Amino acid sequence: MRMDRRMFLGSAALGLTGLALPGCATTSSRPVTQTGCLPPVDVSADRIIRTLAGLRPYRPSGFVVRGEALGDKRLVHNYGHGGAGITLSWGSAKLAVDLGLPGHRGPVAVLGAGVMGLSTARLVQEAGFPVTIYTRALPPETTSNIAGGQFHPFGHFREEAVTPEWRRQFVAAVDYGWRRFQIMVGDDYGIRWLPTYVERNGPEYALLPTFPPVNRMLGPDEHPFPLESVVRYDTLYVETGRYLRQMIRDVQIAGGRIEVRGFATPAEIAALPEGLVFNCTGLGARALFGDTELRPARGQLAILLPQPEIRYAFTGEAGYMFPRADGILLGGTFELDQWSTEPEPGRIARIIASHQRLFGSFRCTA
Ligand SMILES: Cc1cc2nc3c(=O)[nH]c(=O)nc-3n(C[C@H](O)[C@H](O)[C@H](O)COP(=O)(O)OP(=O)(O)OC[C@H]3O[C@@H](n4cnc5c(N)ncnc54)[C@H](O)[C@@H]3O)c2cc1C
Repeated sequence: MRMDRRMFLGSAALGLTGLALPGCATTSSRPVTQTGCLPPVDVSADRIIRTLAGLRPYRPSGFVVRGEALGDKRLVHNYGHGGAGITLSWGSAKLAVDLGLPGHRGPVAVLGAGVMGLSTARLVQEAGFPVTIYTRALPPETTSNIAGGQFHPFGHFREEAVTPEWRRQFVAAVDYGWRRFQIMVGDDYGIRWLPTYVERNGPEYALLPTFPPVNRMLGPDEHPFPLESVVRYDTLYVETGRYLRQMIRDVQIAGGRIEVRGFATPAEIAALPEGLVFNCTGLGARALFGDTELRPARGQLAILLPQPEIRYAFTGEAGYMFPRADGILLGGTFELDQWSTEPEPGRIARIIASHQRLFGSFRCTA
């Protein structure tokens, strides 16, 4: 099966090139029919309400869902989802519980309270087991809270580094997650459908027969972007702060316990009372289990004042724009091996400038 590299890595790598609009962009003033017009995002530095930098847990050979023995316990890993952890959360958690739960009796431990730990804990509870989440930090102090929240499996592996077996896990995870998120659409979880406009010269790789829906090249009168080639597909967007709050409530309503506690060594985990442990520590797994393949891929975001009339998303050489109730997210960097979570003013200024050029050049506005 051929994967479209640009879809998974290429546009992420473009974040390193300075977020410039491409040379092929045109500012043609040809008329666009009303149907192709959209309200532009109002981009300026004085509309920034916060800036963020988060570390994606990137692994070239893909996320790890694998079981092993730890003393007299069973340990199931579920970490390393790069820029796609929200997308893969339900599906990867499903792979993990399907590995760990058969034959198990008694309480279960989950390490980590990011999206992966919370989803894993919920599936453990749905299967009828009591669960305790042990975590060094709780939302909002997790990488998962920083995520843009687009459902799209982007920036989490290198094409040449993965195995056919891993690809099967990956497709199964997307399939389960895609269906699971659809039944959670609504204000309570902060999930909604949006059309997504992508700067690219061919439809997105169709990972599933149902994903991504629509997925077609647009004619010049079907969009206002000053770009040669634009594709539209529809997908789900998760307002991550609201979503993670609700997921914590769900765990607690179902009787789950949460204990704030960090682990420095596997021996400390082996001393837990539970006989089955899911390791959902994200980038933390690097130090905890010595997985040096796991690397940070930093992403920086500028969040602008909310604009409720913006009901579409964009990704392309300018970066990406996801509109949410808590602000308009502008991003697009993918900086490998950068460990600092301090946003860099210069990088934020470039994110603002590239989006200002894009939205300031709309050929027509709704
Ligand atoms: C800027 C940015 C934009 C993104 N956009 C998207 C997007 O649009 N769509 C998408 O699908 N994904 C996106 N992602 C990726 C996504 O955020 C991650 O893949 C995901 O959050 C990983 O979730 P996690 O639960 O594995 O890790 P985390 O959220 O980091 O959670 C790990 C948990 O483990 C705990 N922990 C760690 N070490 C230890 C330890 N030693 N002992 C105890 N507890 C420990 C932590 O405290 C934390 O609670 C984005 C990421 C960034 C940075």
